[in-house]
Amino acid sequence: MPPGSPLHVAASSVPVETPPDERGIRLVDVLPILSIHFLCLGVILVGWSPLAVGVCVFFFFFRMFCITAFYHRYFSHRTFRTHRVTQFFFSLLGATAAQRGPVWWAAHHRHHHRHSDHDPDLHSPSLRGVIWSHTGWFLTKRGMSTDWSAVPDWAKYPELRWLERHHLIGPALLIASLGAFGFIAGKLWPEANTSAWQMVIWGFAISTTLLYHGTFTINSLSHTIGSRRFRTRDNSRNNWVLALLTLGEGWHNNHHYFPGSARQGFYWWEIDPTYYALRIMQAFGLIWDLRPVPAHVYDAARRHGVDEPAREDR
Ligand SMILES: [Zn+2]
Ligand SMILES: [Zn+2]
Repeated sequence: MPPGSPLHVAASSVPVETPPDERGIRLVDVLPILSIHFLCLGVILVGWSPLAVGVCVFFFFFRMFCITAFYHRYFSHRTFRTHRVTQFFFSLLGATAAQRGPVWWAAHHRHHHRHSDHDPDLHSPSLRGVIWSHTGWFLTKRGMSTDWSAVPDWAKYPELRWLERHHLIGPALLIASLGAFGFIAGKLWPEANTSAWQMVIWGFAISTTLLYHGTFTINSLSHTIGSRRFRTRDNSRNNWVLALLTLGEGWHNNHHYFPGSARQGFYWWEIDPTYYALRIMQAFGLIWDLRPVPAHVYDAARRHGVDEPAREDR
């Protein structure tokens, strides 16, 4: 997009005002995520099996769904409703992705929508580069902290505050379950050629590493590569490759124009698997009141968008 184009957002000239002492990457925050990456090398010792690879792929997509459906479309934007018990269950499932708790996730994501590609957006590739937006921003003091004032709707639930403090229970439960499954499968079904450690390496370490980078593309590449249907005030893009990888999140320009919809692929040809699954969950009564794309958004799409976004964050 050339500068001067009506769709170009000149955000790169905006200075970053996050306090310097909160901008630096901290070793204490890098070590956990780096450890998961290094744990992938354990594959040299444990080998592989079709069962382990299948479990890896399953937990990649299952947890991608938990992040997009629950952490993003529910906790960040409240695009559907559910019972308080299922709400906690959804938050626990999301925590298995090792992306902290839903309140931390939602607080930062709402901040991103308020300031997209303008200061003080923490993970804008326009402001601080693609690598920073992909992996740098959350390894800082500011990125690791939770702005509770951005999430008063969730702060009132003691069980969610508890999960924020103990978010590691999510990955811990997954690791323990994978280890137990691998151990039992290895004993009872020798032809499967698997073990507890093989299941942990593939089902957690490799799957989580892939899941991290799949999720992070929405902060980095979805603001860099793709087309723009709507003239939003940010650099958000629609990208069908990222939409397939992230179960529908790649329709990011649609989403930035109207974040209040449970649906991010606005047309039948914009594949949005998360939305299809939410429709099925609604049919079973697990969730309800899925918020639709309003008619005025489709009108704006026919006019190739308008200069100011039809924002409805929550
Ligand atoms: Zn965005
Ligand atoms: Zn969003």
